[in-house]
Amino acid sequence: MSLIGQYDTDNIFAKIIRGEAPCFKIYEDEDVLAFLDLFPQSYGHSLVIPKRAAARNILEIDSDNLAKVTAAVQKVARALVDELQPAGVQVAQFNGAPAGQTVFHLHMHVIPRFDGEGLGIHAANKADPVELEKLQARLSKRLQG
Ligand code: 5GP
Repeated sequence: MSLIGQYDTDNIFAKIIRGEAPCFKIYEDEDVLAFLDLFPQSYGHSLVIPKRAAARNILEIDSDNLAKVTAAVQKVARALVDELQPAGVQVAQFNGAPAGQTVFHLHMHVIPRFDGEGLGIHAANKADPVELEKLQARLSKRLQG
């Protein structure tokens, strides 16, 4: 069952943390990493993950790391709102495949929502890397100075 199981140290987000896979990073400190979703459901769709917790989901993560991830989610949400001026911002987190989880390292989605634009299909359409790079520059400047 995908809700309960062993943490796979070779999952894609673990590789990103170790620098073995690329990402469009927008924020990093010693505890968390935030980067753009490669298959965004809206313009600016970002992900926040813990760097020091081998947790598949919210059931497994310790409360200290969860608090750090949550604080970073707020930081990223504020930066997205300031930079992109969406009409709303959605925070989502899935646990287990039946709940929509596809990558088994805990992560929070921060998804700007724009008037008149529906939510894109989950993990379906790969973004143009040139666009992601431009967005990364704007957001990381705001988040990391
Ligand atoms: P989940 O379905 O587990 O809640 O979310 C996983 C998210 O990771 C999806 O939104 C998907 O688009 C995104 N994703 C999957 N593989 C990669 C990748 O290699 N890089 C990045 N940046 N995002 C990914």
